[in-house]
Amino acid sequence: MKVAKFGGSSLASGEQFEKVFNIVMSDPKRKIVVVSAPGKRFASDIKVTDLLIECAEKCLKNEAADDLVEAVIERYASIARELGLSSRVSNMIRNDLLTVLSGDKSNPERFIDAVKATGEDNNAKLMAAYFQHKGVEARYVNPKDAGLIVSDEPGNAQVLPESYERLFELRNLPGIIIFPGFFGFTKKGEVVTFSRSGSDITGSILANGTKAELYENFTDVDAVYSVNPNIVEKPKEIRELTYREMRELSYAGFTVLHDEALIPAFRAGIPVNIKNTNNPSAPGTKIVHERTTSNGPVIGIASDKGFCSIYVSKYLMNREIGFGRKILQILEEYGLSYEHIPSGIDDISIILRKNQLNPALEEEIVTRIKTELEADEVKIERNLALIMIVGEGMRQNVGTMARASKALADAGVNIEMINQGSSEVSMMFGVKAEDEQRAVIALYKEFFAPVPVNV
Ligand code: ASP
Repeated sequence: MKVAKFGGSSLASGEQFEKVFNIVMSDPKRKIVVVSAPGKRFASDIKVTDLLIECAEKCLKNEAADDLVEAVIERYASIARELGLSSRVSNMIRNDLLTVLSGDKSNPERFIDAVKATGEDNNAKLMAAYFQHKGVEARYVNPKDAGLIVSDEPGNAQVLPESYERLFELRNLPGIIIFPGFFGFTKKGEVVTFSRSGSDITGSILANGTKAELYENFTDVDAVYSVNPNIVEKPKEIRELTYREMRELSYAGFTVLHDEALIPAFRAGIPVNIKNTNNPSAPGTKIVHERTTSNGPVIGIASDKGFCSIYVSKYLMNREIGFGRKILQILEEYGLSYEHIPSGIDDISIILRKNQLNPALEEEIVTRIKTELEADEVKIERNLALIMIVGEGMRQNVGTMARASKALADAGVNIEMINQGSSEVSMMFGVKAEDEQRAVIALYKEFFAPVPVNV
């Protein structure tokens, strides 16, 4: 059997619901269907999840949120009307949302999670009603009843291992199972969501738990592209890539799949197929354990802005035992996570996502490193972009770094830092944020032949 997950844009309207229905019915192996909340119907539209978050925040501040509540209900009601479903479903959704909104607000994070989760929960109920309306045996299954137990980290839940065994039971239910993505329950029975876009994670967990033969992730693109199509027009599509390659790419800006979503599927050895709801006959992109790497060293180029680095230099740093640990300890005390640590004999740069910092915190950290570690120089460099070139083929190919750095030099991009993990699956280049596009285009041309670019 297969698990098929559909993203928000695949569920934004009645027309999209119909496509989902046809896709599911065209393959009897599609037994479990995981749904997101309704997404955007057009570029300036607002996702239901965003409406719900705003709604919850207003309720917490005791501000009127009636317009938002109605807007959310209308999103479902319009889908139901388009599909010819009775108003019973829309009324049920209305009641459910109003009940959650009038619930306990003593813990704001918990309240926001409960409101957010209604987005997928009600969409799953709506989808199940639609399947039944079409005469198909289908049922909505609640994550609590299925045993999807998660850690108590609002907005950032992690699945608990005991869930998997219980989820296996889903195989024994008759008919098609419609399962809401994005949330689970704590051991105490409270709703907690995964991080944003977390329905991908739910799909992967269910694929693992039910030992599915395939996890299909339906989205709105024909394939994972080798580079961001907003930077390079019509980039090469990737047919097959490994879990590690996908992990590296989604880490640095490939938003097709949540970067935490691969782990459960990977652990159970279940291949993932990314496909397009709007063009289901396209083969999509397969994510597998191993692939043949005959097509060059690089499979994809990812980039992301929003990084900064803490540069620390001290003469004879290389001889000082415990220097790295002390710096990292300071960061740990402030709850900061780091991304990369390129280093030299007398200096070290710690790269972090800059949204974790603020000016007061930066000053405190700089002062502490200077005084407690007696560093010669400590400075924060802002506005960094990280560019990752990714490919298992780098292991077999000599000279990839030389080609990449020459391409960047020819494009007049100054490389601020370089990092290559010993796994040799990726190389990271830190550049100034304003050079990001130029750098990506230069690297794309180098590794994927010259192409017309839209900038
Ligand atoms: N609806 C949630 C979000 O927008 C989860 C998802 O779509 O995967 O983040």
